[in-house]
Amino acid sequence: MNLRAVPYSQRECASSESAPLVDVQALQQFVAEHPRLFVITGAGISHASGIPTYRDEIGNWKSNTPIQHGEFLKHVAVRRRYWARSFVGWPNVGNAQPNKAHRGLVVLENGGYIKSLVTQNIDRLHQKAGQKRVIDLHGRLDQVVCMDCGALTPREQIQQWLWQHNPHLEHLKAELAPDGDADVREDLIRQVAIPDCQHCGGLLKPNVVFYGGSVGREKVNYLYDKLSAADAMLVIGSSLMVYSSFRFCKFAAERQIPIACINQGMTRADGLLVLKVSADCGEVLSELASALSR
Ligand SMILES: [Zn+2]
Repeated sequence: MNLRAVPYSQRECASSESAPLVDVQALQQFVAEHPRLFVITGAGISHASGIPTYRDEIGNWKSNTPIQHGEFLKHVAVRRRYWARSFVGWPNVGNAQPNKAHRGLVVLENGGYIKSLVTQNIDRLHQKAGQKRVIDLHGRLDQVVCMDCGALTPREQIQQWLWQHNPHLEHLKAELAPDGDADVREDLIRQVAIPDCQHCGGLLKPNVVFYGGSVGREKVNYLYDKLSAADAMLVIGSSLMVYSSFRFCKFAAERQIPIACINQGMTRADGLLVLKVSADCGEVLSELASALSR
C-alpha cells in the first residue's frame, strides 16, 4: 500500500500532486532510529470505533457549543441538559470497541517502542485494547467525580440511576439521534432529575475536562518530564487544535525532539514536523506494527 509521508524539507508540496509518495518504511525507519517514543493520540484514532469527532452530549471540546466548565458548576439547567444528552450519548461510547489503530499501538508498546502514551480521548479505548501505560489527558468518561468530596462513581451506575428516575428520557433518544445536536425540548429538560453524590450529596460531574476547565499543572509537568526523556514524539489522529495538547509539540520542538505525525488533514503543528503520514491511522499503525514485529 502507498502511504503519503512528507519529509519536512518537502513539506510545501504536501497538498500538491507532486508530493512524494513513500510507503510506511519512512515511519518504520523513524521509529527504529527513535525507539523511545512519546505518543499523543486524538479523536481520529477513535473514529473507526464509531465515536464521532464531536459530541456535546459527552463533553467533547470540539463541539460548536461545548459545555463550559464554569456554567456546568453554576447552573442546574446546564447540568440537566448535560445529563439528558449524556444519557443518550453514553452507551455509544461505553459499548465502543478498539480498532486496529489501538491494537497496533499495543504491539508497539509490547515491542518496547512506546515510552509514554498520552491520549486526548476520553473513551478508554486504548485501555480496552490492552495498552498498559496510558495517560488520559482530558480525563475519562467512564467515571463520574463528586466536586465536593472527590468520590468516584462508575458512569454505568449513573446511567442506571438516570434511567430509574427519568423514564421520560426514552423520548429523548429519538430526538437526539443520530448526531446528538438536535434541540432538546425544554419541557423535557426541566423535568430531568439529576444525580447527587451518594456519599455527601455533592455536585457530580463526568470525570473529564470541559471547555474552560484545565489540565492540572502537576500532570502537565509530569508529561513534560516524560517527553524530555523520549527520543521523539509521534502524533496520531489529532489536528492539535487545542492548546492543552499542542503545547507538547511546542515543548518538543524547543528541545529539538523530532516530531512525526499520522493524520489525515492539516494539523496546528505541521510546521514543526519532520515526517507526516497523511493516511488512515488504523492502516498505518497495523502495517507499522507488523513491520516492526518481523
Ligand atoms: Zn461527594
